[in-house]
Amino acid sequence: MKNIILYYNSLSLLKKNLLVPLIGIISILPFYFFILSNTMNMNSNMQEINLELIHLNECTFNNISILEKILNQLNSAVAAKELEWVANSEAHANEIKSNLQKHLQTDYGDDIKKVLDSFLDYYAFAKSVSTKLINSNYSYENISEDTELLVKKYNNIYEMFNALRLNIKDKIAQNMNSIYENSNSIISNGSYIFILWFSISISVTFFISRDFKFRINQIVQETREIASGDADFNKRLCIVSYDELGDVTKSINLFINKLHQEHEELVKAKKELKSLYVLDSLTKLYNRVKIDEIIDTELQRINRYTNNSVFSIILIDIDHFKSINDTYGHLAGDSVLEEFALILKNNARATDYVGRWGGEEFIIICVETDTHGSMAVAEKLRTAIDKFDFTTVGHKTASFGVASSTKGIDAKTILDNADKALYKAKNSGRNQVVNYSELP
Ligand code: GH3
Ligand code: MG
Ligand code: MG
Repeated sequence: MKNIILYYNSLSLLKKNLLVPLIGIISILPFYFFILSNTMNMNSNMQEINLELIHLNECTFNNISILEKILNQLNSAVAAKELEWVANSEAHANEIKSNLQKHLQTDYGDDIKKVLDSFLDYYAFAKSVSTKLINSNYSYENISEDTELLVKKYNNIYEMFNALRLNIKDKIAQNMNSIYENSNSIISNGSYIFILWFSISISVTFFISRDFKFRINQIVQETREIASGDADFNKRLCIVSYDELGDVTKSINLFINKLHQEHEELVKAKKELKSLYVLDSLTKLYNRVKIDEIIDTELQRINRYTNNSVFSIILIDIDHFKSINDTYGHLAGDSVLEEFALILKNNARATDYVGRWGGEEFIIICVETDTHGSMAVAEKLRTAIDKFDFTTVGHKTASFGVASSTKGIDAKTILDNADKALYKAKNSGRNQVVNYSELP
């Protein structure tokens, strides 16, 4: 069964459609042979009638009249006492003999042989009795027994001829009946064959079109599933068969492969674009656009919750940075900025957002962190920088301004507060952390 299904699936659409007449013909084949055998029976019946029975019938019919002629001739010879006339019947007797001998080889040979023997016996006896009657002038010893026996033999042979004729007639009737029955059977079976062939063809056509419909639906369904919602390009269509529908499925899969590839490239490009949009190209920290967005989100968050939600901002400015550019050149300045960014990133907490605010100024958004916490972070960073040995330029310091959010505060105010604190740190000798809330 599995092999049949595999074979069926491997056929082209044209071959599948050709199955309709093929299965129809195979299913009516036994009936065709039945009809063929009926026709052959009819043929043999007709042949028997044409080649044997008609001739035989004619021959037996003739024989009866010839037999009567022989009787008349012998009677006339006896009545006229003419011995030569007895011999005249010889020609008729030979006619009967040859008539019967012609049919000895047929199916009725045995019966004919018996009839022929009886006739020859009768004729020989009739001839001898007639001769004796003429020669003895109608009086010899056993005359009455002989005449009695002769009549008996004549009646017997007459009956035999008649019986043979009736037998042949019966045979003709039987053959005609058989032809009639066979032709009736051909007509009725012909109708059955037509009905059978028609219903099988309809059933096979129905099955094949249902199968096509099912498989086309499957392709449509699976394609829709892949395309619906967030298109899932990891899915592929099942190969439904190895015919033209299978080719369609394969082409769709190739198309999905291509789409998948393009989609992955697009996703990658989008990611790169996004990072370009949110990251600073030199330090790979968040840029000002992103930091503004984060501050807005944090402000919304603390204003949404009634509990004591808070966040803090740390503004950082490298001390005397200009002198680096002036002394070592702009590239050295850039590499200090990169190393500085790394120090910030490595020492800040995972939940903090570290960004470049512009030039040699940096910013850290400490989420869910009050002044106390953010001061600790800033102090930790300041120490780390103070201890760090920058490539080319060696020891550098930075100043920190810290400001925390209060209920209802806006972005500009909190940034201004941090800036004021930073300003204070600069003015107070640099390399220190100043908290806005501690300003006079
Ligand atoms: P202080 O902050 O301690 O008062 O002194 P400063 O020298 O750091 O002060 P200022 O803000 O005047 O100098 C900042 C300098 O940083 C000016 C500018 O040339 C330089 N700068 C800004 N952005 C970059 C940059 O991307 N790369 C380099 N190499 N230098 C930059
Ligand atoms: Mg500056
Ligand atoms: Mg500076």
